[in-house]
Amino acid sequence: MKTDDERLVALDKAHLWHPFTQMKEYRSGSPLIIERGEGVMLQDVQGRRYYDGFSSVWLNVHGHQAPELDQALRDQLERVAHTTLLGMANVPAIELAGKLAAISPKGLNKVFYSDSGATGVEIAIKMAFQYWRNRGDRRRTAFVTMDQAYHGDTIGAASVGAIPLYQEVYRPLLFPAHVVPYPNSYRHGGDEAAMEATLGALRRLLEERGEEIAACIVEPIVQGAGGMLVMPAGCLRRMAELCREHGVLLIADEVATGFGRTGAMFACDLEQVSPDLMVLGKGLTGGYLPVAATLATDEVYDAFDAEYEEQKTFFHGHSFTGNPLGCAVALASLRLMEERRMVEGIEAKAAFVARKLAPLKELRHVGDIRQQGLMVGIELVRDKASREPYAWADRIGVRATMRARELGMLTRPLGNVVVFMPPLCSSEEELDAMTDIVAASILDVTEGKEAERR
Ligand SMILES: *Cc1c(COP(=O)(O)O)cnc(C)c1O
Repeated sequence: MKTDDERLVALDKAHLWHPFTQMKEYRSGSPLIIERGEGVMLQDVQGRRYYDGFSSVWLNVHGHQAPELDQALRDQLERVAHTTLLGMANVPAIELAGKLAAISPKGLNKVFYSDSGATGVEIAIKMAFQYWRNRGDRRRTAFVTMDQAYHGDTIGAASVGAIPLYQEVYRPLLFPAHVVPYPNSYRHGGDEAAMEATLGALRRLLEERGEEIAACIVEPIVQGAGGMLVMPAGCLRRMAELCREHGVLLIADEVATGFGRTGAMFACDLEQVSPDLMVLGKGLTGGYLPVAATLATDEVYDAFDAEYEEQKTFFHGHSFTGNPLGCAVALASLRLMEERRMVEGIEAKAAFVARKLAPLKELRHVGDIRQQGLMVGIELVRDKASREPYAWADRIGVRATMRARELGMLTRPLGNVVVFMPPLCSSEEELDAMTDIVAASILDVTEGKEAERR
């Protein structure tokens, strides 16, 4: 007789196809199967406990089984689980739209819901495109993105992505986009040179082709999947100004950076930038449920106002657009963030993490430690002096995060970058334990101590 755990492992390997996972390799290992979570801890079916050191892939805000969020979900469930927003409304979707309009950068007054960051980005792209059409401008059809950008995995979102590993296979299916360099200070000769390269390229592009460009999409302040790259101060603001000067819409993809993650409610707030469109996801529901939102200014929205016959309607929607359960939980999450003054508290937590991780800079294979709020990336390099990267086949990031798992913390790498993105609710004590594991796992794999210690 198989134990229940063995049965689950067999079923998982037989039927479940995991995202961003080489299944051949996955099937040859022993899968980690999570059964429950509480606070910043997750527990697997064998009862082993792990810190959620990446907020379950950048989502979680208040921890798992947060009583207030659980209660909000139960309360809404006693009313209705789902109704449509096509031509009608529901209570939590209205309340949340009002709340998002109130807390987002000025001008963003309209909220269009969907169910993931990628769909939120698709919507922003289609809105920007149709905004110009509806105004009678058929020239503005192109998009600008940044090198190493990540905006999600649907075809439209991938078209404005610029990570070759994720995009190349699908290239024939994607629409072309202009790509400007991302200001990678570590790789592009420091803050000033990196920023000048970005702004210079954007300026030239807009001067030459500005009138063909519908919108520019950017991950504000921190480029997540590209390797937790932090923009030099002032860069986002200058980019926004350049877009404005050339009449190009600015789309801020705050899917990863939104809801306190960077130390402000939204990363755009750090430089007082007000985009024309803003995409929210991940932390919107505290990381509980699949709700995303695309926020638009009145100016964008007004371009869709017309007589029925004119067909300027935004013909887009999803079955679960504005799901009441998700919206109710999002409202509870935002209420909790306010009550606990969580955004204000991030600075002190971030400073604690920075202090704890600082000694890692002395290690022979730690090239760069990048941090904005509770978003951290530690880039490992084969040679510190020349900044030579580890080879892909070294799998250094994978090894470091697997070591962290053995030591009791979950995270996923981005190539050679070890990601540390704890839930915003993490206490100093919990951050202390998690950063100890980050440090130990990096030391172990870069100094070749993995095998010894086992
Ligand atoms: C995760 C992410 C997305 C995609 O969100 P999904 O919910 O996974 O579709 C888009 N943009 C950014 C910046 C992200 O980090």
